[in-house]
Amino acid sequence: MSHTATLTEKDTLAFHLEKNIDVLARKCYQCGKCSAGCPVAGEMDFSPSMVMRLLQTETPANDEKTLRSYSIWLCLTCEMCLCRCPMEIDIPSVMDFLRQKSLKEKKVNPKARRIIAFHKSFLNSIKYTGRLFELGLTLDYKRRSLTLMQDVALAPRMISRGKLHFIPEIIKGRPQVAKIFKKTSKKEN
Ligand code: SF4
Ligand code: SF4
Repeated sequence: MSHTATLTEKDTLAFHLEKNIDVLARKCYQCGKCSAGCPVAGEMDFSPSMVMRLLQTETPANDEKTLRSYSIWLCLTCEMCLCRCPMEIDIPSVMDFLRQKSLKEKKVNPKARRIIAFHKSFLNSIKYTGRLFELGLTLDYKRRSLTLMQDVALAPRMISRGKLHFIPEIIKGRPQVAKIFKKTSKKEN
């Protein structure tokens, strides 16, 4: 029996990683270099090398732990782990894939809700104006994350220093940006 056939039967996260982003979790030999260089490993519930280990075990319980972990939402996609990995394992892409799957299967770690609210507000700002509109981002994020009054005292100072504008600047290439969003959302569905 071919290796691919065996993986298909298992239908594990490791199988989906291999199939969708061509990353082989089993190549990781747990040297720990990725975790040692990761700037947010200290805040994670599972360090990058631990995430790889969970994936390697290919058990439903560990797949579940991985999808419900906080780590996948903390990853900054800085690529430090990828630069350091002797096996060139693309952990940033793994984290990205796991985030999508976690969202799709409604397994998002409760601690990650504000991070997701920020992602959505940031992307909305780019989608509608073609660039970041800070005031729009802030208001949308506060609405989504239910943090309306948090840091509100900073607003007057930021406005007086020209950091928050009331009118968004709309770039010329906005239709092209809209097309990218349309294409991406089609792919996701
Ligand atoms: S650096 Fe690469 S091989 Fe080492 S633990 Fe991390 S993913 Fe595994
Ligand atoms: S890409 Fe993510 S996991 Fe890798 S070092 Fe950066 S923050 Fe850590």
